[in-house]
Amino acid sequence: MSLNTADVVIAGGGIVGSSIAWHLTAAGSKSVLVIERESAQGKGSTGKSMGGVRAQFSTPVNIQMSLYSIPFYAKFEETLGHPSGYRDQGYLFLATKSSHLDYLRANMDRQRALGLNTVRTIEAQEIANMLPPLRSDDILGGSFCSTDGFVDPYSAMTGFMARAIEQGATLWKKTGVTGIERDAQGICAVKTTRGTVATRTVVNAAGAWAAEMAKLAGIDLPVEPLRRMLVPSEPFDDFPHSSPMVIDMSNGFHFRPEGRGFLLAWNDPEEKSSYNTDFEPAFIEKILTLAANRVPVFENLAVNPKRAWAGLYEMTPDHHAILGPVPSVQGFFLANGFSGHGVMHAPATGKIVSDLILHGKTAIVDDASVLSIERFAKGQLLHETALL
Ligand SMILES: Cc1cc2nc3c(=O)[nH]c(=O)nc-3n(C[C@H](O)[C@H](O)[C@H](O)COP(=O)(O)OP(=O)(O)OC[C@H]3O[C@@H](n4cnc5c(N)ncnc54)[C@H](O)[C@@H]3O)c2cc1C
Repeated sequence: MSLNTADVVIAGGGIVGSSIAWHLTAAGSKSVLVIERESAQGKGSTGKSMGGVRAQFSTPVNIQMSLYSIPFYAKFEETLGHPSGYRDQGYLFLATKSSHLDYLRANMDRQRALGLNTVRTIEAQEIANMLPPLRSDDILGGSFCSTDGFVDPYSAMTGFMARAIEQGATLWKKTGVTGIERDAQGICAVKTTRGTVATRTVVNAAGAWAAEMAKLAGIDLPVEPLRRMLVPSEPFDDFPHSSPMVIDMSNGFHFRPEGRGFLLAWNDPEEKSSYNTDFEPAFIEKILTLAANRVPVFENLAVNPKRAWAGLYEMTPDHHAILGPVPSVQGFFLANGFSGHGVMHAPATGKIVSDLILHGKTAIVDDASVLSIERFAKGQLLHETALL
């Protein structure tokens, strides 16, 4: 690839751009250029993620994206020679109302019908036996999927990119995409802080900044940034480190083991869309209250506020990704709006987007067009309610 031309330009070098670069080059593309404005990869949302991966979703397309992605993470090292950090410790949803149980059962029927055979309902007593320190007096039961779990997002991202480069891709760091040029046929070039690159295909992989990127191509993209905060604890041994991701459905508090401690998360419903990534010290008291409510021994969790952090979710109106070509701008592809699921769905996104670029169709989901940007104009929004 000469430096001023590329078959495909991927704008954004997070886990999504990296997976697309790997999938394209694994399918034989050689002229793939990834452009990242930061001096290192991972400074966007990927480096801030909790790394949870689950197939316990409510819509077929999200379930199918996980059914490609989680086995992909399980075989990542075999395929790419680089660790993804996948740990199959599961996701455990705790139901405290009968409506939660109905909801989990309906989702589970859909998940099983699509081929997920590692998900099951779990009785309150089994939950209490599995995690004795949990307060279980109000738990009615739940659902557990043993192949859900966690990955190391930074490691997966760098693995995708390192192998993509070996397969012929180029990564430009410290380079901003500043313009997207069009001619009568559609996309014709990308302007960057390193000069202009002639190309007929651009993929928007700009994470929480995707709407700004789309504007450069004259497109209104309904993706908004939303701050999420995570609080890691200091080492703590009074709760099992073999624990799955535990989700308290009564309030959305969730946590998982991380290192010798635990990583605590809760999505504050008061949070408003913005690019603010400052960690709010007052959040620690809120989350520790929720933690001690579900796990009384967490009253003794030590937390160093300096180790807590915030990052951005990239939200869409229906909490589903927006993937695929933009019909009004030939050559412009979207890989955006993961609404908090971009790490777990990065492998599927790489496959879907590279299939759509190279072949115009994909087989890994029944109907990729449900994720098209056109759904907003047509009023055909999807509804994912299994949100974290
Ligand atoms: C606190 C938190 C917890 C999360 N937990 C989970 C989880 O458990 N599981 C899960 O699956 N997901 C989780 N997510 C979501 C996940 O991190 C994101 O969906 C995912 O990282 C998105 O990847 P990306 O590559 O699209 O975006 P990013 O990693 O943000 O990459 C986009 C890149 O584009 C670059 N860029 C932007 N504009 C330009 C430009 N003009 N020119 C050049 N480069 C540009 C940015 O610098 C950035 O590096 C979490 C997110 C947060 C914040």
